[in-house]
Amino acid sequence: LIEIEHLSKSFPGGTEVLKDISLEIHKGDIVAIIGPSGTGKSTLLRCLNYLTVPSEGKIRIGECTVDAKSHTKEEVYALRRKSSMVFQQFNLFKNKTALENVMEALTKVQKMPKAEAEEISKHLLEQVGMGDRMDFYPSKLSGGQQQRVGIARALAVNPEVILFDEPTSALDPEWVKEVLATIQEVAKEGRTMLIVTHEISFARQVANRILFMEEGKIQVDAPPEEFFSDTKQERLQQFLSFVR
Ligand code: ATP
Ligand code: MG
Repeated sequence: LIEIEHLSKSFPGGTEVLKDISLEIHKGDIVAIIGPSGTGKSTLLRCLNYLTVPSEGKIRIGECTVDAKSHTKEEVYALRRKSSMVFQQFNLFKNKTALENVMEALTKVQKMPKAEAEEISKHLLEQVGMGDRMDFYPSKLSGGQQQRVGIARALAVNPEVILFDEPTSALDPEWVKEVLATIQEVAKEGRTMLIVTHEISFARQVANRILFMEEGKIQVDAPPEEFFSDTKQERLQQFLSFVR
């Protein structure tokens, strides 16, 4: 479903953040990405929807291919429609209710009639356990509840891929569990998901593949059982002993 070929990213004046990454992700894969801070995990996710424009390489999702060196705006828009992102800081509109936040993606981006958008959005909010708080503004919701609205919003456009960038790391410990449970529910639907997370035990439970990123490269890419028993990878073992 996703193919990344020789992806590199350097920021102006900076060092290379992503170094020649090639990666294939299959439909239904749930890929957890872990690794130390500043190694390019967020940049990798952002390149997948061109929120960050890569310096080199190709990205394909489904039938959309975007080449860093030569692409049109239309190709980028088409690629963007393939995925949606759940952010660490929720990024909800403060002046809109939970329901309006979810509807926004459908009415604005997809030009869907309001009544239809409302029906879909209500259903999604129920699915993430927010059915009783649809008319609340973000300021009246806990961090965990806001993030569940964020997940409903990401689901609204029915994307082929959902990208989660540390969806629980801005949350108080008490709210982490409910958000992880919500993500796990979504995972059961067989959607393709990439999840950058520091929750190692969650990654082990939910992912069928775990990537360890360090210094702009994918150092380890393995199913959980293999990943955690890979004692040859000294840096990975070091990282795991540090975060556990
Ligand atoms: P964390 O775990 O802390 O979120 P990360 O693995 O997600 O880290 P990135 O956010 O991808 O790391 O950043 C990788 C490197 O790229 C960092 O050194 C960062 O300073 C740099 N970087 C990220 N965004 C920009 C930008 N817009 N301009 C310049 N440098 C950037
Ligand atoms: Mg990050």
